[in-house]
Amino acid sequence: MRLAQSMSRLGTETAFEVLARARALEAQGRDVVHLEIGEPDFDTPANVVEAAVSALRSGQTHYTQAPGIPELREVIAREIARTRGISVSPDQVIVTPGAKPIMFFTILALCQPGDEVIYPNPGFPIYESMINFVGARPVAAPLRESRQFRLDVDEVAGLFSDRTRLVIVNSPHNPTGGVLEKSDLERLAELAVRHDSVILSDEIYSRMIYEGEHHSIASFPGLAERTIVLDGFSKTYAMTGWRLGYGVFPAELAPHISRLVTNSVSCTPGFTQRAGIEALTGPQDEPARMVAEFRKRRDLLVAGLNRIPGLHCEMPAGAFYAFPNVQGVGLDCREFADRLLYDGGVATLSGTSFGKHGEGFVRLSYANSIPNLEKALDRIETVVRKQR
Ligand code: PMP
Repeated sequence: MRLAQSMSRLGTETAFEVLARARALEAQGRDVVHLEIGEPDFDTPANVVEAAVSALRSGQTHYTQAPGIPELREVIAREIARTRGISVSPDQVIVTPGAKPIMFFTILALCQPGDEVIYPNPGFPIYESMINFVGARPVAAPLRESRQFRLDVDEVAGLFSDRTRLVIVNSPHNPTGGVLEKSDLERLAELAVRHDSVILSDEIYSRMIYEGEHHSIASFPGLAERTIVLDGFSKTYAMTGWRLGYGVFPAELAPHISRLVTNSVSCTPGFTQRAGIEALTGPQDEPARMVAEFRKRRDLLVAGLNRIPGLHCEMPAGAFYAFPNVQGVGLDCREFADRLLYDGGVATLSGTSFGKHGEGFVRLSYANSIPNLEKALDRIETVVRKQR
């Protein structure tokens, strides 16, 4: 069947492919440690589940307003205002099934052929995929190990042009765990204003920080009017399968994004939105407990990786990913990731799944138990030693 040309430019997210390959191995009886998929291994907090169940029981099984139910938009507006120190009206909030559609809709609404989009590379693969899909030009901002994978703002300054329509920032960062410092964001904010660009700030890991604190670029003077804050429930509240996320948009943009919602998914299920209200307004000890647990796992995994000759791993400051340098192993990172899966029974993602500047690295998600991480470390060491 003839596909539209734009489809040849659409990429994918390798995590789901590797998961399928790992599951196929498991179906043959192999034991696989899953460090490929980016989701908390914890259960959704019980109070959140209860809120959804009671919403279902009370008949909230119908369409809702396209941009979300007013109560949830209100709660999100308050949450963002409080945590980012900006004033937000509920009209600026668009609720979507997962946060991913926020990047899809934003890029669709703002970018066209002739436009350029600066985005982190390595970075979440959907950014580059969507930029290409709409026919805009992806301009990679390389993230380097020597800077703990923080954008080099001096370098980014040289990437701006009069065609720069959008700049994507993601802190804490997938796949590296890097966290931008306030001074980085401040300078980036000045550049965005000077070049009259819009910013998509992917803050889905904003609550998962181990060093320092989260800063949103939307907080800087003049930035709220040109920034889309993407956040959601998948990571913070272990709700990946619920599909619940949101974007906070400049007021003039929100109705257009709402139209994209109407044209695609119609709305987000009402009972998951009710769960979202409970997540944000209920007790916050579960998310805090998860972060404390992730910190322990991070420390164990990173120390273990650094003990393996040929590997070097920076200490990630946020999210739940480690991004070790595997150049010392002597294989390209894709081959190494394959070796880890097929010989070692450890599912990981090659750095190049996140863009060309990810060459030489692999991503390990430490959203897995300590015994599993210990098992993975043993297996990784065996594969590396065999290779060297
Ligand atoms: N942004 C980043 C950087 C992510 O890693 C993810 C999920 N892997 C998302 C956004 C999307 O999250 P959701 O599951 O809410 O669609």
